[in-house]
Amino acid sequence: MTNPVFATPALPQLEISGEGASYPIARIFCVGRNYAAHAAEMGGEVDREAPWYFTKSAFAFCASGSSVPYPPGTSNYHHEMELAVAIGTDAFKASPEEAEKAVFGYACALDMTRRDRQQDGKDHRRPWSLGKDVENSAVVAPLTRASDFGRVSTQRIHLEVNGECRQDATLADMVWSVEEIICHLSQYYHLRPGDLILTGTPAGVGPVVAGDEITGGIDGFAGISLRLTDPE
Ligand code: MN
Repeated sequence: MTNPVFATPALPQLEISGEGASYPIARIFCVGRNYAAHAAEMGGEVDREAPWYFTKSAFAFCASGSSVPYPPGTSNYHHEMELAVAIGTDAFKASPEEAEKAVFGYACALDMTRRDRQQDGKDHRRPWSLGKDVENSAVVAPLTRASDFGRVSTQRIHLEVNGECRQDATLADMVWSVEEIICHLSQYYHLRPGDLILTGTPAGVGPVVAGDEITGGIDGFAGISLRLTDPE
């Protein structure tokens, strides 16, 4: 047994609503363009052949209710309100039934994005890491257990900036359902507890600035909030 040369950071812990327990986050997968109206506002189309993904480090996690500095390296930091799905069992090449059973719970999430750096990536056919894998950009509210809730269906999903509504849709607008995403993603990964999937954002994304208060919700789940403070 060798000794680590620095103190190993613990996995980020996501609160479970109404419980003392927490859900450790090991990996974060994000679905691209899962709402047709958002794909259109980004100048693209939904790929109806298959969903596609990018990832964020688990250490990009930020608990809902936090105040964080406006990030470096952008002048166009955007909000994206999303449904997060936490995996609770091992799932590899999952059937639809296995996919449904693999869901541990649901939460409101923000996929905060350096839109200018993401656009650089698109323009130069480079990866999106600087646009998407931003410190404090995976904001997640407390989890609701699927065993307490069932499957998601047509709930409202919404986001406000300083109280003004910017995103308003329903989960029925998702192109790929939670089960379809798990079936597809598990063709490529051995999904396991600790895996969190952000399922894409509806239309209405836009910039935020230092001093803004972002709030959002999905009916039935704990609401989310984030305050941006002055840059470091
Ligand atoms: Mn997103």
